[in-house]
Amino acid sequence: MILLVDDKSENLIALKKTLENRGFIIDTALSGEEALKKILKTDYELIILDVQMPGMDGFEVAEAISGYSKTRDIPIIFLSAVNVSKQFITKGYASGGRDYLVKPFDTDILVLKIKTFIKLHEQTIELNRIQQSLLAEIEQRKLAESKKDEFISIASHELNTPLTSIKGYLQLAERSLEAGQKENSKLFIGRSRKQADKLNNLVTDLLDTTKIESGRLKFNYNNFNFDSFIENAIDSVRHSYPGKQIIRTGLADIQILGDESRLEQVLINYLTNAIKYAPESNQVFVEVNILPDQLIEVRVKDHGIGISKEKQEQLFDKFYRVEESSNRFQGLGMGLYICAEIIKRHQGEYGVESEPGQGSVFYFRIPVKPILDLN
Ligand code: ADP
Repeated sequence: MILLVDDKSENLIALKKTLENRGFIIDTALSGEEALKKILKTDYELIILDVQMPGMDGFEVAEAISGYSKTRDIPIIFLSAVNVSKQFITKGYASGGRDYLVKPFDTDILVLKIKTFIKLHEQTIELNRIQQSLLAEIEQRKLAESKKDEFISIASHELNTPLTSIKGYLQLAERSLEAGQKENSKLFIGRSRKQADKLNNLVTDLLDTTKIESGRLKFNYNNFNFDSFIENAIDSVRHSYPGKQIIRTGLADIQILGDESRLEQVLINYLTNAIKYAPESNQVFVEVNILPDQLIEVRVKDHGIGISKEKQEQLFDKFYRVEESSNRFQGLGMGLYICAEIIKRHQGEYGVESEPGQGSVFYFRIPVKPILDLN
């Protein structure tokens, strides 16, 4: 839409009609003040401004328009009956005008100019839009880059820790062997194997995370007994943490369809987190419930450090770690992200209930017979 501004209504009506006949949509204002009000409310493609007006003249209106970022780029054509001196024309351009026409003017020429300026205006808007989106993308990339750097530094540290231990234990085992202390050497080899398992888990999580990203995390669905699955997962954690008590309640002696080893990965992750983030406590609770609508639920409860409400929403995000506890506990923030993906692929739900200082319950619910996406 084009805005025509002229204090003489007969001029305004005549030009409005001429331009409407050429297919333009026209709005009008009878003073500089009225024009400014309209300009701030409506997006015009072009403004045609009479120079001589009582009150605010055309130049003043143009200057005011160039002061607002929203209106700065709207092209302005000045129309003038007098003031044709070079000085006035210069003032017209200086105040933000694109062109200066002196009456009487050729309507065909005016129409050509209007079309050209509108096209240029559209191109400017498009260029601005592209510039804004490029700037936003650059910012996003910078952020992603710095997050990646941070992740690489944490990951290197996390991978290095068990590796250093393995080297140390193997050295000790070697020395014990040389000294004929076979039992000691066995002990150190056992410890280095545990560290190698840790390393292996970290690398597996890293690989799983990249596979999730590229949609390549594979699942093998089978029917299996839910109770045995729970027992197996608990056993394997008990084995790694002999000092901790894992107390199970609830039975589910039913066959369910799913990827047993992936679901085991979820339960083991919940359990190891429950142990890791509850260093002062000895007990972890596993509760199994059969819910209505063919749903089965597993809840893992600890009396650990807990998590504040505002942090709970992000727990299952990739690489998210609660900042306050991140220095105290090792980790990469991949475990719960992988758990979430596994439960989603079983058409299930997951979540957390927690109070800082009281402990947490991490749960998942899956259908006994999900309709699975087998890709
Ligand atoms: P990681 O333990 O390697 O950091 P996870 O993805 O398993 O990664 O967990 C993400 C974050 O969630 C952890 O860094 C921790 O802050 C929080 N968290 C997970 N489980 C618990 C829990 N049982 N108690 C308190 N905080 C937890």
